Amino acid sequence: MADNSTPLTFTSFENVIDGKLSSTELKRHTVNPSTLEANPDVPVSTQHEVDKTIAAAQAAAESWAKVPWVERKKAVEAYADALEAHATEFGNLLVREMGLALSAAEFEVHWGVEWLRDFCKLSLPDKEINADCGRQVIERYVPVGVGVGIIPWNGPVILACGKIAPALLTGNALILKPSPFAPYSVLKMAELGLQFFPRGVLQALSGHDDLGPLLTTHPDVGKVSFTGSGAVAKKVMKSCSTNLTRVSFELGGNDPAIVCGDVDPATVAQKIGTIALLRSGQLCMAVKRVYIHESIYDAVLAELVKHFEGVKVGDGFEKDTVVGPLSNQPQYERVKELLANIEETKLDVLPKGGPSIEGLKGFFIKPILVANPPDDARVVVEEPFGPILPVMKWSDEADVIQRANDTSYGLGASVWSKDLAQADRIGNRLQAGNIWINTHAELQASTAFACHKQSGYGSELGVDGLKNWCNVQAVYTRTFS
Ligand code: NAD
Repeated sequence: MADNSTPLTFTSFENVIDGKLSSTELKRHTVNPSTLEANPDVPVSTQHEVDKTIAAAQAAAESWAKVPWVERKKAVEAYADALEAHATEFGNLLVREMGLALSAAEFEVHWGVEWLRDFCKLSLPDKEINADCGRQVIERYVPVGVGVGIIPWNGPVILACGKIAPALLTGNALILKPSPFAPYSVLKMAELGLQFFPRGVLQALSGHDDLGPLLTTHPDVGKVSFTGSGAVAKKVMKSCSTNLTRVSFELGGNDPAIVCGDVDPATVAQKIGTIALLRSGQLCMAVKRVYIHESIYDAVLAELVKHFEGVKVGDGFEKDTVVGPLSNQPQYERVKELLANIEETKLDVLPKGGPSIEGLKGFFIKPILVANPPDDARVVVEEPFGPILPVMKWSDEADVIQRANDTSYGLGASVWSKDLAQADRIGNRLQAGNIWINTHAELQASTAFACHKQSGYGSELGVDGLKNWCNVQAVYTRTFS
């Protein structure tokens, strides 16, 4: 293994290159979005670090691919156990770097551990297509070699786990590039990997956004797995075209929830309200638009108002905090700009009072509902990525399906009904990679996490997630005669 002598500390953060921690002359840091205090310094990587890292990854990929699957699996399982053993430190770190409520931060780490373990239960065996007349034909999956995982700021641990497990199990070397707004836990996860994987197999580089293109245009990178916004994905696609580098995308969403007239208003409001406010709304697959049947619209809205009034907004380390700050200044400014638009267009905002954010220093926004805005309002059309939820009314099933589908996004969608035949009928017509009935935002690593339309393509999870990091290869064998 690369290095298992030094215990993990959570006070300093370095690049992980070729089995070692590695610093850069230039440094940067983020701020804790709740207190605005400076977080520790992290490296600012340049072409020099990129070249070193890719060279190490190439060497590592060659030997790692020869390690039997069962041994690679053991290493990932041991890594999962170690991440679990450090769940408290990683949870605390996520609160400081993202502003998450501690319970959400700890949940993210344990969820990541579960993903690592669930991936280890999958396999990608050779497939015999036929064996007749002295000829055998098989399809097998071979690693792409050097993989790059580009990660956004809103789920550093879980998204890193969703790239580490499939990339390493299938025999690739992986370089993680965290967001400049949340580099800490990803660097630490790569450092933890030094104890379990040979040098160069799992590396991480921190830097500004301009580090991304240095990786995506590099001729020795075989695959880029990008999670982030559609706007940046378009640039990534362009730069990957330089070398026809394989690329997959998990992008934004604007998930609708369609609530039918037969459900209990208090129960559905509690469930949808909770999901909409997860991570202060900064979740790609949060409920972002709610369509409620007119027969129960007022009752559900009233219950949602109660829910939004009752949540505690505050520092993630404070007891009972549900909604933390937005994770960084640019996101805070974006959401404030959307709030200004809601005010200018005189939309109906609820609750009128709501939880207080008086005296809070950081990037805090009071959670709000927007009652019955027009379908073309910005808050309905855009992904707010904040604690803001538009709530619309519907009466006709075909019409609400059309409105739910009227978006360039296609990540997830849910239907809430006691009548499973109705839910299924509606669900079958929704254009999204993930359809949830009486639930939302549930994911498991053993199942594809698909993205339709401009929410991306490829699947990071399930067997498709393993295939994502491979080239398929056909082998035709004849006996020599
Ligand atoms: P972003 O697109 O701004 O950044 C994502 C990553 O790309 C960062 O690491 C950034 O440094 C890097 N990057 C920036 N410019 C680059 C370039 N030219 N080339 C290569 N890399 C570059 O996204 P964000 O603001 O960090 O994250 C929020 C977005 O991510 C939201 O739209 C959210 O819905 C989406 N998201 C999607 C999923 C999913 O699985 N579908 C999960 C989480 C977040």
